[in-house]
Order: sequence, then C-alpha cells, then structure tokens
Amino acid sequence: MPTQVIIVDDDPIVGALSLELVKDAGFTVMLVSDSLKAVDTIKKEKPSLVVLDILMPGIDGLTLLHKLKSDPETEKIHAIVVSGKSFEAEKNRARQFGAEDFIEKPYDVDAFPQKIAAILKTEGHEPKKIARPPSAPPPEVKPEIKMTVWGCRSTSSAMSPMVTRYGKHTSCVSVELANGLIVFDAGSGLILLGNELQKTGKRKELWIFLTHFHPDHVEGLAGFPCARDASYTLNIAGAREPDKPLEELVAAALEPGFGGDAPPCKIELYELIEQTYEILPGVRMSAFYANHPGATLGFSLAAEDRKISYVPDSELYGEFATALQDYDEKLGGLVRGCDVLFHDGRYTDEDYRANRNSGHSSFLAAVDFAGRNDVKQLVLVHHDDRYSDETLDKMGKAAEARVAEKGYKLKVVLGREGLRLSA
Ligand SMILES: [Zn+2]
Repeated sequence: MPTQVIIVDDDPIVGALSLELVKDAGFTVMLVSDSLKAVDTIKKEKPSLVVLDILMPGIDGLTLLHKLKSDPETEKIHAIVVSGKSFEAEKNRARQFGAEDFIEKPYDVDAFPQKIAAILKTEGHEPKKIARPPSAPPPEVKPEIKMTVWGCRSTSSAMSPMVTRYGKHTSCVSVELANGLIVFDAGSGLILLGNELQKTGKRKELWIFLTHFHPDHVEGLAGFPCARDASYTLNIAGAREPDKPLEELVAAALEPGFGGDAPPCKIELYELIEQTYEILPGVRMSAFYANHPGATLGFSLAAEDRKISYVPDSELYGEFATALQDYDEKLGGLVRGCDVLFHDGRYTDEDYRANRNSGHSSFLAAVDFAGRNDVKQLVLVHHDDRYSDETLDKMGKAAEARVAEKGYKLKVVLGREGLRLSA
C-alpha cells in the first residue's frame, strides 16, 4: 500500500501523535523527523499529501513547501501547514506558496484527521476501515483499581479557608493494584494515608513517586507514620536533579520528623529520567517532564489494562499557546485515552490570566485538554489554597457545563480529600 500522507515534524512526541491520529483515521502515513531528508523521501514515496510543521531546524516548513511546489515532480502534492494561532504572516505566505489548509496548535484531535480526510477524498482516497474480528470475545472481568485522593491543595497556607469540604492537605493520591500500592506525591495528605495503612496493616510496601521537591509535594514525609515503623518498605522515586542527589532531598524531607535519627523503615531510592520503567510485574510507569518550574515530573501508570496519569503541577497553554509552545501536544501524546487523569486545575480563567507562566493551569484549559484527548475521567487537583468551597463548587459546575457544551465524552470531578474513585 503506497504512503498516502507524509508528516514532517522534528519533534518526536508531536510527530508520533500526528502519526497516530492519521493512522487511526485509516490512512497510510510516514513520519519524517529530519526536514533535510524530507524532499528525498517525498520524491521517493510520492504521497498525495504532506503535513509540514512551520518551525523546524534544518529546513523550515515554509521553505520546504516552496521547494515542493516549485518542483514539477512534487508540485501536485497537496500540503497542509501546522502553525500556531499567532502566526498570521506565516500563514499568508504558506497560502501564497500553495498550502491548502492549516492545522493550528494546540491540535484539535477531531478536526485534524477530518482535514486530512477531506483533502485525500479529492484524490479518491477513502479511509481504510480497520478490520475487527467478527465476534470479539466477551470482555474479561478486570480487577478494579481503587484510587484515593488524600490531599489536593496547592499549599498548606494560613490563607486557606477555615472550614472546607475539599480539604486543606497538599498533594497525595494512592492507587491500589493487586500487586502493589502506588502513591503519587508526599504532600501532607500522605499522613492521612499512613494513618489508614497502620490501622489496616494490609500493605507493608509502598511505591512513592514524587513529581518534584516543592514543599507541597514532600512535606508529608516528615510526619509519615510508616517511615517510623520498621515493618515498612518505602520505594521512593523522584526526578534526577542536576545539582542535588535524590538521597539528600529525601533525607532533608524526612529529617524534621526524626530529630536526626535515621528512619527505621527500609528505604530504596530510584532516580528517574524521562523514561518508562517496569516497576512491578506487568506494571509500567512512564515519567516525563511537566511544564512547571524546575525538574518536575508527570507520571503515567499502565497496569491491568488501564492507564492512570498524574500531572498535578502542569501549565497547559490552551488558547494562549504560541507556535513555540507545544507542551499541550506533547502531554496529549502521553496521556491520550487514559482512564483517569489527575491534572492541575489550580486557577479560574481570571486568576490564570494573572498568573501565566507560573506552572499551573486554568481548570477550563484542563477540561478542554482532557476532552480533546479522549480522557475518560478527569480529576482536577491542586486547588488554589485561597479558594473557598463556594468558589470550588462553582468551578465544578462550570467544568461540567463545559463538557456538555463541547460534547466531550468525559467525566469530570473536582478532587477533594477522601475522594475515592475506581477504574
Ligand atoms: Zn505543587
């Protein structure tokens, strides 16, 4: 089957997402990540359509487009140019050079394949239906994965409301698997989890994944009861920092609770880079850098045929994205289709505008992001500590209204202390 579409994009993550979208739409597609090799590949493969990113090292998308359209061998190939919203001048030039359409960043994952299909239809290409077995076997019953939110405030500050149904504790979410207990972040909510673990005595080994070392993500370690109990094993994983070893960072976080004594529990440390790790049999954890100051990680957990993503400190650019800001696409490629996404929804739109580039998102940008990336359930976390229950209630309603208005197939809830979920 000849290649119908060639995508030229130097960014491996955005490129992979584009590839997947076109493939899912039923077309044959190839990705070229080195723009210098694009002309040769296009001449060899003779696709019906090329999708060119404007900003690339080597040859940029516009120069490439001009080359293709002024060469008799390639001039008939249709072209779509990918650009940021704010790049009007580039768009006009692309049109003059013969581009037929534009795809704006951040991607609309529904509109993208539709545009591709519309152009290919003019060449007589219909999407190939993906063959499914005539009678799919009945779905086997999968064990339930239980999750609990133990803390979801941005800081434990004195500014917090005195009484709140959403809780005052900082970041901590647990995920119970048949063969392990995974804990995301060690904010003050971790102490509540520790109390419950000691009460039930069920799990003696924990996997704690730290997104970063801001206090609201590690302050729970100091008072964590399991760390003072010799019967526990803590596997603690965090980002490899350029200037401080993980051991020092974890020791500093544990220290205030021990008054100088080494913790009696068993501790194993794991320094993470942007990579996928098999942490337990059949349990894979992908760590990736989130858009937040410092080396901050986000996580995607794949286990028992489900995917759970946790990205509590992460600034989505949404409609404010410039062509250079493709974080939304990157993250989309990493969490797309996940069963549950815990994501930063710290601000109202208004407060986000006043706090741009601080590493946190507007909750509506998070809803749009989750809706566009086929997330099944979104849990908004990292609420601003100054927000009252009334404000948070309103945000919850507005999030649901947005889902209905846009027709997303998405369930959205605001995280609160003690919230239990299953997937
Ligand atoms: Zn935080």
